[in-house]
Amino acid sequence: MATGPLASAVLRRLEGKVALITGGAEGIGEATARLFSNHGAKVVIADIQDDKGHSICQELHKSSASYVHCDVTNEKDVETAVNMTVSKYGKLDIMLNNAGISGVNNTNILENTLSDFQQVINVNLVGVFLGTKHASRVMIPARRGSIINTASICGNIGGVANHAYTSSKHGVVGLTRNTAVELGPFGIRVNCVSPYIVLTPMAKKYLKVDDDGILGVYSNLKGTNLMPNDVAEANLYLGSDESKYVSGHNLVVDGGFTVVNNGFCVFGQSV
Ligand code: NAD
Repeated sequence: MATGPLASAVLRRLEGKVALITGGAEGIGEATARLFSNHGAKVVIADIQDDKGHSICQELHKSSASYVHCDVTNEKDVETAVNMTVSKYGKLDIMLNNAGISGVNNTNILENTLSDFQQVINVNLVGVFLGTKHASRVMIPARRGSIINTASICGNIGGVANHAYTSSKHGVVGLTRNTAVELGPFGIRVNCVSPYIVLTPMAKKYLKVDDDGILGVYSNLKGTNLMPNDVAEANLYLGSDESKYVSGHNLVVDGGFTVVNNGFCVFGQSV
């Protein structure tokens, strides 16, 4: 078993790295900010919930976590968040484009409004575009970096959420692949993570469920539930050097949900 400096290197997988996390004030982003910080990263949380963001940063070590107000649909805000990260911590190693909204829980296209559709696309897809653009601006000269985008199982299959959310997440997967191709020659990796339902404030509001939720009802993998920290662990892998040759990848964290064909399943449910 490793001891001393080797053990701490193994335990602190992001030692010396600097990460900017959009939507880091709660849910998956918050869990990731906490995990990244525990693994030695300097973390900047960029969100529109200022009180929550500040209070998480205060809980994390003062010199290693900062908050910046940033609406990911506003290019100036995103530019400022990236510049603030670099001026405070000297560089940007990991950009987690995670901020997202669900939109209205209504799959009837005749009832969907243009403004609702555009709002979801703006936050979930344009926000990822802007985060990728401004992270690249500082990562290209450094010839390194890891960009991670939060997609969803809704970016892989249809019929799970509303049209706007599903479209935005398919867009995130496409943008991830395209930018991975462009940025690879500069030593920059771009990947996305596609989680199944996680009972965060967003999912609870959208699905109108409480903490007991409905996690087990639709899941394929029984006996456990997907928690924000499980998605944070996927982000940790993609942010760390352990994934140094992984790029253009869509890391699906769904317990097998998207590979089940419920219309034709030869496996019994006798468990
Ligand atoms: P959440 O609502 O708990 O957290 C989202 C965070 O994004 C909040 O802190 C919110 O303030 C912030 N945010 C919203 N709009 C913003 C904007 N314009 N600019 C900056 N920050 C903004 O939701 P979550 O479940 O943690 O979602 C995080 C990501 O995970 C989203 O991209 C979401 O689509 C994705 N996701 C969630 C689930 C799920 O079931 N919860 C499943 C798959 C993917």
